[in-house]
Amino acid sequence: MTLFETFVKPRLQPIFNTSFAENNIEVSLLRLDEIHPRVNGNKWFKLKYNLQYAIENNYEGIATFGGQFSNHIYSAAAAANLLNIKSIGIVAGANPQQLSHTLLFAQEKNMQLHFVSREDYRKKNEEAQLAEWQKLFPQYCFVPEGGTNNLAVKGVGEVLNLIEADFDYIVTACGTGGTLAGLASKIKPSQKAVGISILKGEDQLTNSIKKLIGSDKNFEVITGYHFGGYAKTTDELRKFIQTFYSETGILVEQVYTAKMLLAVIDLAKKKYFKEKSSVVLVHTGGLQGLDKSILV
Ligand SMILES: *Cc1c(COP(=O)(O)O)cnc(C)c1O
Repeated sequence: MTLFETFVKPRLQPIFNTSFAENNIEVSLLRLDEIHPRVNGNKWFKLKYNLQYAIENNYEGIATFGGQFSNHIYSAAAAANLLNIKSIGIVAGANPQQLSHTLLFAQEKNMQLHFVSREDYRKKNEEAQLAEWQKLFPQYCFVPEGGTNNLAVKGVGEVLNLIEADFDYIVTACGTGGTLAGLASKIKPSQKAVGISILKGEDQLTNSIKKLIGSDKNFEVITGYHFGGYAKTTDELRKFIQTFYSETGILVEQVYTAKMLLAVIDLAKKKYFKEKSSVVLVHTGGLQGLDKSILV
């Protein structure tokens, strides 16, 4: 695919914090949020081989799943549009009369929105329900929620080619775990991939990643940094986003990346990272979902 050539190579930017200095670790941020104005962060890497598969197998487009604020839906619509293929978003629990900005954007990028009940949506991985949707959209290549499948793992693995410096740890926020799986599948045995789960009570993540990559050796999912659960915020989290932005000029959002950063600061205080180690944090993007009221 030549599309990637229009993307910007992400910077690896040093990040300073007293807890990093005190524990003698070097931390940098891989700015995947900067690779493209629309298809940014981890989602492009998760989507690229799925899109390529759909194109090479002559599907009309891709059909995929998400909630009304989903970064995946946003990026899938934008990427399919860039590649001139169609897209369908199967969306749960939205009011079609009052679309979120995410869904309005998706529609602008010619994504056809198909609204389903939360109840049906929960069954999206069950064969019978999937077969029903496939019957509705037979010419479409179905990509799971968050884009997480083997092709996503392959795409995310390529993120590592963009990092020239050596490192000991690579850290990402985790939703479905596809990004962590992709990183874990490609790092060296001496390196470790760390996923900060942003979901509350997520105990299936380690297992599903293990299933995706066939190993549980070089990754760890860390829970307890969900700040109340998916998309929930606290004053501490909001304050952190403001301070981090005013000190570094880097925007992070409240659903994934700010939680990941706060987790890393806390883990450093708890001496989770070996002394003198080098830690790469992945800025997975998702800024379309930033709650802008946090910044004012
Ligand atoms: C989707 C997303 C993640 C989580 O990726 P998974 O592969 O589902 O674990 C992390 N950060 C951002 C900004 C995202 O949009």
